[in-house]
Amino acid sequence: MIIDYRTMVSLTYDDGLDSQVKHALPALNAFGIKGTFFVSGEALKNPARYPAWRGVAAAGHEIGIHTINHPCDISFDFVPKGFALQDYDMARMREEIDENLRIVKDEFNYKSDKYVFAYPCGQSSLGKNREISYKPLIKEKFSAARGVQSIYADPISVDLDEVPCFGVECNGGEMIEMVKKAAQNGMWLVFLFHGIEGDYISVTEQAHRELVEYLSHNKDTILTDTFGNISSRISAKR
Ligand SMILES: [Zn+2]
Repeated sequence: MIIDYRTMVSLTYDDGLDSQVKHALPALNAFGIKGTFFVSGEALKNPARYPAWRGVAAAGHEIGIHTINHPCDISFDFVPKGFALQDYDMARMREEIDENLRIVKDEFNYKSDKYVFAYPCGQSSLGKNREISYKPLIKEKFSAARGVQSIYADPISVDLDEVPCFGVECNGGEMIEMVKKAAQNGMWLVFLFHGIEGDYISVTEQAHRELVEYLSHNKDTILTDTFGNISSRISAKR
């Protein structure tokens, strides 16, 4: 019996995309793997989409917080007017995060003793000149947070308030190679997915399924669990 896992993997899915519900969820459920969905945007704003996310929560997956409006630096062309980090102060960010939490708890019916956060665009500062860090607010409200630095997380030293991850847009074999590399070094590998067989920054449904199947077949040596569960596990050992 395996009592300790050296290698840990978390599968995270950002932005509340329909393609994730349609093409990632069935594979996760079929292979008994739990993912973390950092939902934002339309999925939180449009009540017609709540039932789909209630289903994700009911299947035992983790629902993470990623803000409602996904504010990023004003230089990104996808940022709507008035919704850049430069347009936010701490009070506005706090209010939005509180409303985000309310929707996740009350509308998605996702209840947890710990909630996790992913920084939109990996950016953690706001204000007119992006001079204010909102990390203290995130630390106050969440048990752990994910950034976007593309490195493996060392369980010994990782900053649980800004855990690195790999945004992927590649095939199944390449993702499995990443898992093997993490296994060689005893690392925590956090995958960041956007579209699955659709939407943007996508991987194919087949590539995703190959990875999930591999993780499922290697449960004795690789612990695949939600971002919240693995960060809590690391935190408890400190
Ligand atoms: Zn995002």
